Amino acid sequence: MLDKENPLPVNDSVWQTLPKVLLHEHLDGGLRPATLLELCQRKRISLPLDTAQQTPEAVAHWLQGNAQSGSLERYVAAFAPTVAAMCDAPSCERVAFEAAEDAAADGCVLAEFRMAPLLLQPHGLAPEAAVEALVAGLQRSGLACGLIVCAMRTDSVQEVERAARLAVRYAGQGVVGFDLAGAEWGFPATAHSRAIDIAREAGLGITLHAGEADSGERVLEAIALGATRIGHGVQIALGEHAAQHMAQVADMSQPVHFEVCPTSNTHTGVCQSLADHPLPAMWAAGLELSIHTDNRLVSGVSHSQELQRVHQAMGWSVERVLASMQAAAKASFLPSAQRMQALEQILSYGMDAID
Ligand SMILES: [Zn+2]
Repeated sequence: MLDKENPLPVNDSVWQTLPKVLLHEHLDGGLRPATLLELCQRKRISLPLDTAQQTPEAVAHWLQGNAQSGSLERYVAAFAPTVAAMCDAPSCERVAFEAAEDAAADGCVLAEFRMAPLLLQPHGLAPEAAVEALVAGLQRSGLACGLIVCAMRTDSVQEVERAARLAVRYAGQGVVGFDLAGAEWGFPATAHSRAIDIAREAGLGITLHAGEADSGERVLEAIALGATRIGHGVQIALGEHAAQHMAQVADMSQPVHFEVCPTSNTHTGVCQSLADHPLPAMWAAGLELSIHTDNRLVSGVSHSQELQRVHQAMGWSVERVLASMQAAAKASFLPSAQRMQALEQILSYGMDAID
């Protein structure tokens, strides 16, 4: 395999050994297949698979088939069984611990995981208990990591504010940020400005899913609402005002960091394949960005695989990936000591290991 920017051959294993910063991964989209199957069987959650077919591989295949449907709405619907499987505190703790353990094994040096705790309440788990269990699992892993509390933008203003207050309650105790997730068309972030203010004024980092399915204007709107990071944001590079919008963001005095998840975007219909992904246009416009998984199980991709795909489809070099990881470390919502430590690990990565 040849790197378009670097004539040196890049060994496949390099992507796993690179020190990585993971900013955008949903816990309920990243369960280990074997864990999901075990939890579903124990809780008697029915899966549309014959008993003989209930293997971790078959469960992952079925879930990914549902998710990779070309629409964000259908992609989000694929999370129903994973959320149901996490409906008690020990399961939340386990899923969070395993996500961090998997990330560390994949070369991650700093991670932020996210979840919407209010989704678990209809299944009988109090949101406070969910947050405490998720944080406990992350902390048990030993990885430098934190939790972003998501609210579902499709919920009422009151519910989203409840999620923001929940995040604030655990600020400094493992919760580092607040996010709006879920279907985007017809559910503008502006409806939830007060919730965003509640979280921001308490010192939490704000990252908002924006410009994932809806237009690039949603990205500008999210920034105006106080987001310093944007989940996806890829639509800013599409449409007739793309150049103007990207220049506007690139020139902002306060940098805005885009958490780009290319494989997920192919599954939700942003583009047909990675070769058509707007990432190169975003990079060329000077936007600050890094590459993430979104949902390891649902999208069927690890962080190192995602980086390798971007290298293969778009010619990103190891040096460029490392530069984007440095930017991700700086943009993280974790305490500065942990950000600096991750930055040092990236800077000290031996480039001679690439050969
Ligand atoms: Zn996401």
